[in-house]
Amino acid sequence: MNIVIMGPPGVGKGTQSHGIVQAVGVVHISTGDILRMSVRSGSELGKKVYDIMTAGDLVSDELMMELIRERLSREDALGGWLLDGFPRTAFQASALIELLAELGQTVDHVLVLDAPAKEIVRRLEGRITCRVCNETMNLTGFGSVKPVFCPFCGCAQDAERSKPALYQRADDKEETIRHRLEVFRKKTLPAAWLLEDKYPLSEIDGLGTPDEVSQRIRSVLE
Ligand SMILES: [Zn+2]
Repeated sequence: MNIVIMGPPGVGKGTQSHGIVQAVGVVHISTGDILRMSVRSGSELGKKVYDIMTAGDLVSDELMMELIRERLSREDALGGWLLDGFPRTAFQASALIELLAELGQTVDHVLVLDAPAKEIVRRLEGRITCRVCNETMNLTGFGSVKPVFCPFCGCAQDAERSKPALYQRADDKEETIRHRLEVFRKKTLPAAWLLEDKYPLSEIDGLGTPDEVSQRIRSVLE
């Protein structure tokens, strides 16, 4: 089974992708992993990627398509895959449709996971990260008391940086979240509608607990 999953930041795409991979037994293909893998392989393509990334530049659509072609052609991908974080634009969606036709592959399910902006802002804004162990947690889980100790590693202080262990990442501030949501609605949703012309697409309600959401996904995949 081949699946494409799309969704704005904070909708729980990571958690759900992990669950789908476990349940359906397909390989998880994320663009971040592809880039890292390619660099590690030391191939010609990998060297190109390394140069671009160390220069702080973005990998072009053309190069990304080459990398995806390479990844989807590998033996472990022939038994099914979950593509996560790609395509993000209408251009990338058309390129993907073309590539899959060339490879003789198709998409069985496009899953668009979404939730109201208000809910996503609430979730991400309440997210705090531990400087020591990198775990993230939600403030709402602590009630009205502001947490001092990380519940995962027990630290209150990051001794190396002499700062409190728990903090809110700049990415998780309301303005940044709203901007990332807008990019998703303006750039990535049009990509989803292009895919819908070719493959079955289901919109999944991302509201509720992770279990409730994965129940909805399961009923679509069955
Ligand atoms: Zn911690």
